[in-house]
Amino acid sequence: MEINRLLKIGVDKIKDRPYSNPVLEAVLVLGELLNVDKTYIYTHGEEKVPQPLVDRFLELMDKRKEGYPIQYLINKREFMGLDFYVEEGVLIPRQDTEILVEYVLDYIDEKYGDSPINILDLGIGSGAISLSLAYYRKNATVYGVDIHDTPLKVANINKERFRLDNVKLYKGDLFEGIEGLGLEGKFHIIASNPPYIARKDIDSLQREVKDYEPIEALYGGEDGLDYYRRIIPDSKKYLREEGLLVLEIGFDQGKDVVHMMEEEGFKEVKVIKDLQGLDRVVSGIKVKELD
Ligand code: GLN
Repeated sequence: MEINRLLKIGVDKIKDRPYSNPVLEAVLVLGELLNVDKTYIYTHGEEKVPQPLVDRFLELMDKRKEGYPIQYLINKREFMGLDFYVEEGVLIPRQDTEILVEYVLDYIDEKYGDSPINILDLGIGSGAISLSLAYYRKNATVYGVDIHDTPLKVANINKERFRLDNVKLYKGDLFEGIEGLGLEGKFHIIASNPPYIARKDIDSLQREVKDYEPIEALYGGEDGLDYYRRIIPDSKKYLREEGLLVLEIGFDQGKDVVHMMEEEGFKEVKVIKDLQGLDRVVSGIKVKELD
């Protein structure tokens, strides 16, 4: 069958899905199967697609029709200008998280310039935060921790892909992952995008997220704040004096997380908004003489 006809069938299959861009998605999936780029697909409409690939394409479009995320279908997600490999079992990087990364990049430049610094990322997923920081700031040594195997596998694939030698990845439950390495008091920056969805909000997530993305990367306990309750107090042991703690949050968690950080003695605690004007990140500085 020719590319054009096949695309049309694919687009028809997925055109009624909410949160989809049927033409682009069909083109991306077919491009991936044929190992060519979008432009090739658009300019070779008459070319014949071998039958096994036709079958495979239709299978994938059926999956997409059921809400399976396009990023898992093509094993790809762009984040901070980098092409991340993704697969089921890691959270698909969100554009919102670029707010946190951009903030940290600027912060590094202002406060540390080119001096060597240590960064810790808790809950690496595909490596979106840790690897993009390591990629764009070679003076940083980035430590990343995740409790699950798939994120460690995927982040290691991406680490190779971006040829990063300033990243170290460990398995463990938050700070346990780096216990015994002598890193207490050594971090200039600790960052995290922890699971933060509250129980009451899980049901209203779109199907792509709820049915296919790892729930353990999303669910943050009854009120969504469980991970902040653990990370904020424990981070003080691992941050240097004047070190920065920076956390992604849900749009309605700004007040609570600011309060938690202030209670723990952090200074200059502030909320950073995303492009929609919603609270997205909280940051604060560890002061001297904390326990
Ligand atoms: N921002 C993600 C979402 O809304 C949640 C990510 C997280 O829990 N850290 O799907």
